[in-house]
Amino acid sequence: MKPINLKTKLLYLLLLIGFGLIVVGLIGYFNIQNIKKNLDTLYFGSLLPLSELNSINAEYHNSLASSIYQWDNKLLDDEQVSKKIIQSLDHINQLWSNYSALPKRPDEIPYVKYTDQQIQNMADYFTQVRSLINDPQRDHPLSLITMDENIQSIQRTLNQLIAYENDAAKYEHAILLAQYENALIQLFLFLGVILILVMGLAWMIFARIEIQQQQLIESSETLKHLNLKLEQASYTDPLTALFNRRYFNVVYEREFKRSLRSNTPFVFMMLDIDFFKQYNDTYGHLQGDLALQAVAKVLKTTLQRPGDYPFRLGGEEFGVILTDTDCKNARIIGEKIRASIEHLKIEHKGSKILPTLSVSIGGICIVPTVDMSEDALIHTADTNLYAAKERGRNQVVFSNKL
Ligand code: GH3
Ligand code: MG
Ligand code: MG
Repeated sequence: MKPINLKTKLLYLLLLIGFGLIVVGLIGYFNIQNIKKNLDTLYFGSLLPLSELNSINAEYHNSLASSIYQWDNKLLDDEQVSKKIIQSLDHINQLWSNYSALPKRPDEIPYVKYTDQQIQNMADYFTQVRSLINDPQRDHPLSLITMDENIQSIQRTLNQLIAYENDAAKYEHAILLAQYENALIQLFLFLGVILILVMGLAWMIFARIEIQQQQLIESSETLKHLNLKLEQASYTDPLTALFNRRYFNVVYEREFKRSLRSNTPFVFMMLDIDFFKQYNDTYGHLQGDLALQAVAKVLKTTLQRPGDYPFRLGGEEFGVILTDTDCKNARIIGEKIRASIEHLKIEHKGSKILPTLSVSIGGICIVPTVDMSEDALIHTADTNLYAAKERGRNQVVFSNKL
């Protein structure tokens, strides 16, 4: 399974936080909605006392007054009206007790007390009316005008209380609604700020990761480049930029074994500059180095196939390994190198064979067999080089056997 990178992990974490915040917001929202619903119920609950007060009002008007009027018009007899008065007063008493038992705000209490007093007065008044009606010797008629005035007075008092209750309930409902809206705004504001903070933080973290990743890529590129340079340096001769002796050992063993396996010719040549000691003596060491670089350049330009390897083996000695080249061609290549160096026409007054710089080459071309040692080939090439020197230098001596 592919490992999840840091950025993706962070993204998941942020998504989780965002999701969590939205869920918390929704839960908060629904809870506040619920509270609002309860508040509405409470509000209509506050209106409950109004129905009690309205019933008391109705009782005065519809029961008490109307019964007395009916009695006055002889529609009810003394006993009936007396009973009705008692019933109504009882009912009013009951309604008023219910209303009084409900919780009251402090500023409401004086109103309630006043109304209570008025209701008591009305009860006393109607008790007197009842006594008057029940008195067989009554000599003064009941004043309906006084009764109407009394009923109007209590109704005014009750209406004031109703208006007060109404206003108070509306006021409280308005306050609760404002609090509800405030709570909602605070909730969304809070969640919004947190979301913005989380997003800001995420943006900063992502930007930082981006920069660090870029730095990491750049560092690894530099490292790769340095590694390549180091690797090249480890198998390159610094003066001539040819492969060095160390790399020669690696390539020689590897290509020898490859030829052994594939049964193909293995070519090795050794080159040595003629009278190079005299060259240095005549032109100086620095000029000698330039001559070495010129010879190296000839090797590089002549040997360009992937299986061709030119080396500087040490001092003014060079080596060449050719793979995938038959013996006829190897000899031709050796000759081509020798001729090319001669054609450079680098002045060499100290040479005893030519006025210019030359090289001697000893080579071997052979299809390796298991009984052959790698050293034996080098020895043969060295012997051939010695032979080339012996025969007068500036020449190639090649052999096809050990
Ligand atoms: P021969 O024809 O027999 O090879 O004669 P020679 O003078 O070349 O003989 P020899 O191989 O003994 O001399 C090698 C000389 O190469 C000795 C030294 O002055 C010179 N030499 C070796 N390495 C370097 C180098 O890195 N730079 C320079 N300028 N000269 C070098
Ligand atoms: Mg030498
Ligand atoms: Mg030499």
